[in-house]
Amino acid sequence: MKVVSLALHPVVVSRRYGTVIAQQGGKAKKSVAKSYFYFVEVKTDNGLTGWGEMSDIDFDKLPKNVADYADALAAFMKGRNPFDLQKLHHDISEHFDIADDSLARAAACALDMAMYDLIGKYAKRPVYDLLGGAVRKDVVISWVAYIREELDLLRDEIRERVKQGFRAFKLKVGVDIDLDEKRLALTREVAGRDAIIKVDANAGWSVKEAPRNIRRLHKYQLAGVETPVPREDPADIAAVRKQVDVPILEHVGNLEYALALIKAKAIDVMNISLSGAGGLFPARQIVALAQAARIGVLVGSTVELGPGTLAQLHFAATIPNLTLPSDLIGPGMYTDDVLVRPLQYQRGRLAIPRGIGLGENMDRQKMRELKF
Ligand SMILES: [Mg+2]
Repeated sequence: MKVVSLALHPVVVSRRYGTVIAQQGGKAKKSVAKSYFYFVEVKTDNGLTGWGEMSDIDFDKLPKNVADYADALAAFMKGRNPFDLQKLHHDISEHFDIADDSLARAAACALDMAMYDLIGKYAKRPVYDLLGGAVRKDVVISWVAYIREELDLLRDEIRERVKQGFRAFKLKVGVDIDLDEKRLALTREVAGRDAIIKVDANAGWSVKEAPRNIRRLHKYQLAGVETPVPREDPADIAAVRKQVDVPILEHVGNLEYALALIKAKAIDVMNISLSGAGGLFPARQIVALAQAARIGVLVGSTVELGPGTLAQLHFAATIPNLTLPSDLIGPGMYTDDVLVRPLQYQRGRLAIPRGIGLGENMDRQKMRELKF
């Protein structure tokens, strides 16, 4: 089996509301109203088609000429055997700067995903069977509520999701601690005593203020705090962790950073996503390291559409130490999707797809309607 062609399908989809998160220094980032995607369609000489998703690409990172960009990816992929994942990731590390270039990381993730889809279709097995088999039938999802100043909007959002069966929530915080406390109190009140609530400060706090803020918010029983402070130095995160009794969560995209966090005793749970790691193959390696260190895992998200969420579900299906709800909210946050059968939440969970490859079919008509 050899790759013979690659095509890109650009898609833009609106979010249900403009989403705001904190950034380093504690200021709000610009609101995100819509997200840009490239769907990668890879064909092989034995007539199979595999799909990958480049998710939520920064508008300023989009290539000027998409045809040239598609040609470059096609040249990189042509002639490859989809089974040769070691070689693919070796070549990606030589030719792509996936640590610092978010477009390159999105491409690596999409190419890896398309190869797994192809191998699954060739073997007539779901992708999770290529990763050692599923250890669960579904994944608990934490609904992510972004920063909104109007408490009534948050109340409506949490109420709606509780009614749909969500029992886990993640609140974006880190811009205004007084507002964060009000939002958290409200979320706890609406979601109830048993709800699992995490917060994510997106590095909005300093090492000095983080422990104080975490203790203040922990009145409402936090299940975890993600990225309390800038993440570059694991010693900073460890300093915060030492002063609080709430699990600390951090995004982990490569083995070197995972090892540094473990050595510094900086975290309790790794947030691992395919977009962050550059695909299933490297993401699985990070999970193994977390297992060895007896650290929990949750599946994070850059907010994927249906196909990207499918890949994340196959990944989540195979993680033994998945200890916290995962953040796969794309199918609920976007106003449209490109799967023939869009994913549905049931009791706040997403079922592991059962079909071969990624497990659902792409809707070409939808991709044409949503083209940019
Ligand atoms: Mg985060």
